[in-house]
Amino acid sequence: MIYSVIVDLSASEVDHIFDYKGEGYVVGTRVLVDFRNRPTEGVIIEEKSRSDYDESKLKTIIRALDDFVAISPRMLELGSFMRRQYHLHWADVLRLFIPAEMRGNRIKSLSRQQICLVTNDSLDTILSSLKPNATMQRDLVTFLYLNGSTLAETINREFGNSALKALKQKGIVSSQDVVVRRIPYKDIKMYGAGKHILTLTQQNAVDTVLSDRKGRFLLHGVTGSGKTEVYLTIIEKIVAEGKTCIMLVPEISLTPNMLKQLRERFGDTVALLHSGLSAGERYDEWLRLKNGEAQIAVGARSAVFAPLTNIGAIIIDEEHDSSYISDFNPRYNTAEVADFRAGQEGALLLLGSATPSLGTYYAACRGKLKLIEMPERINKQPLPTVEIVDMTLETRRGNKGIFSSVLKERLAETIKAGNQAMLFLNRRGYSSFMMCTKCGYVAKCEDCDVTLTVHREDNRLKCHYCGKSYYILDKCPVCKSDSFRQGRIGTQQVVELLNKMFPDVKVLRMDADTTQTKESHGKILESFSRGEAQILVGTQMIAKGHDFAKVTLVGILDGDQSLHHEDYLATERTFQLITQVAGRSGRDKDKGSVVLQTYTPGHYCLRFAAKQDYIGFYKYEINIRQASSFPPFSEIVRILYTGEKEQDCIDELVEQNAAITNLKTDNPTAFLYLDKMRCPLKRAEKQYRFQILIKLSKDSVNRLIPQIYAICDSKKRRTVHVSVERDPQNLS
Ligand code: ADP
Ligand code: ZN
Ligand code: ZN
Repeated sequence: MIYSVIVDLSASEVDHIFDYKGEGYVVGTRVLVDFRNRPTEGVIIEEKSRSDYDESKLKTIIRALDDFVAISPRMLELGSFMRRQYHLHWADVLRLFIPAEMRGNRIKSLSRQQICLVTNDSLDTILSSLKPNATMQRDLVTFLYLNGSTLAETINREFGNSALKALKQKGIVSSQDVVVRRIPYKDIKMYGAGKHILTLTQQNAVDTVLSDRKGRFLLHGVTGSGKTEVYLTIIEKIVAEGKTCIMLVPEISLTPNMLKQLRERFGDTVALLHSGLSAGERYDEWLRLKNGEAQIAVGARSAVFAPLTNIGAIIIDEEHDSSYISDFNPRYNTAEVADFRAGQEGALLLLGSATPSLGTYYAACRGKLKLIEMPERINKQPLPTVEIVDMTLETRRGNKGIFSSVLKERLAETIKAGNQAMLFLNRRGYSSFMMCTKCGYVAKCEDCDVTLTVHREDNRLKCHYCGKSYYILDKCPVCKSDSFRQGRIGTQQVVELLNKMFPDVKVLRMDADTTQTKESHGKILESFSRGEAQILVGTQMIAKGHDFAKVTLVGILDGDQSLHHEDYLATERTFQLITQVAGRSGRDKDKGSVVLQTYTPGHYCLRFAAKQDYIGFYKYEINIRQASSFPPFSEIVRILYTGEKEQDCIDELVEQNAAITNLKTDNPTAFLYLDKMRCPLKRAEKQYRFQILIKLSKDSVNRLIPQIYAICDSKKRRTVHVSVERDPQNLS
């Protein structure tokens, strides 16, 4: 038989598919093959009777690497869809489908010695064969009789080695190697704990979803409306019917606390796929799913590749979260992948969010997804009141600080009442804009209506969409003031100020600097939830997922920052962030309040966010998107050129840009925008960065994307790396 094998070479720019000879292998098996005289890992993707090459020269597969088929035919089908859709290489796609440690044979199943009884005799019969004074031996036998086979180390510890040895010699017990699974949070065994009786709204949501087992749904429920309980109830129901489920959550909400809760609720039927687990745990959780020992996979975006069969439901919580779109190789869109898998399996797909992405809500409005609304919080708790504080007024009154007088007052009240506060700094992106602190005017591009970015190196303002450059302002064109703010405040600075204002109050800080490791992230949150500090200061990391009963005040220090970010998603992101942060406040009995500081209090995004009026915001923003033909009314494609040799990048870009310009000439209505430029982030990790930005009309995307991919594939320079991103979430 001839087998086509994808040879797994890292950092390879093309697919290496080669034919090998062999007998009795199954497609999807990982195998060891001889490649350029080296034993190399690969995956069989096809079986055929003839090769197009000279069969006498084909080498033979050395051996299979696992005693199971690692990649099912459906996953291969998914892989081939992803290759076409995202322009990926086979090796990169297949790597997503198996735990990293499986490659290079770096991890194996763990087997441990277990002790068990040899005979099936009754306990009395066995005991009668032992001396009455051999207490340890008698205890050991009784223990094994009651508990079944047990780890040798436990037996040794409890009953001592000599008793064990004696019983082995008598042939009463024996030892054998047994595979044990490294299960995270294994000690937690409270199957079915933590269930709520559903509210009518929740029950309706569950019923609607379960009434169409192949449906596509969007659950739009305000923060605190009890979406999680809806997901878990659906999962329970589907698993009870003998099917399996995948639930995806943003990495950041996979806190130890949440993982424990899942284990309590689902026991060993849930497998957790999480980067915070040890390599052994990750591998074993994957195997438990693969072997059908666990039916529910929960994890961050890569859990969409969980090795499950017979899937009944795929659920994506916080659907709008940008972490669902992978922005490094291999790039993919999790919701699209989930949709494809759900289609293969005849499963339902449920997306949920308090602030759905505009594209998703638009799809729901057009009937592509069934929309389910949960407009109220559990127990009808009111949403927090949001006070918008006009920081330009504060400036005019002479307060040039970070804290408005309102926020200072609210903080003092909160601390006095013994409650907790969260202060939030909005620091997305790395670039800074220029803003008049008197009137809130922000410098924008004349051609694109996107915010200009300050480039300090050459002291210019630049548009990241069209590349146009402007002089740095010395006077505000609106109010003639010369007081500008650029750059941003840091969390460190905020903590120092708080320490001065409230010397007796304990303040915790959480941002990228304080959370280098996964545990430190969890530790800070746990410490805060135990009430060890009264104020938590953080970046968007504190925006979602966490449920702190004692938090009654949320302060957003710089509501403008991401609003003036240079991409078209900025407004949507700001709305999502403010709504999510505000949702942290007043989750318990006490009503929460939110103070939102801004230099542009009239901005529609902030007005809608203050009222937590998603639908109002959606209607306003979708009109703008339509008028300016931004997604979902078009698709943005970015081709990124990176390399250590700047001139090579430029040459490659210029050549490919010429080809794309020809494509544009042939398809004049399809290209709504096309330009080439240096990336805002000019150089990263020694690599120069350039890009071509394209905006395609929606109806031309499927036709033109393969042609754009083909142009990228025509790359000539080995020193340049070319990649294509569809709907990039980050244009740095
Ligand atoms: P969301 O995910 O929509 O923001 P959560 O799922 O976090 O909301 O639920 C908010 C709170 O309400 C949680 O503390 C949860 O335990 C609680 N809760 C959810 N459903 C119920 C219910 N049916 N009865 C009582 N409490 C509930
Ligand atoms: Zn001004
Ligand atoms: Zn511009």
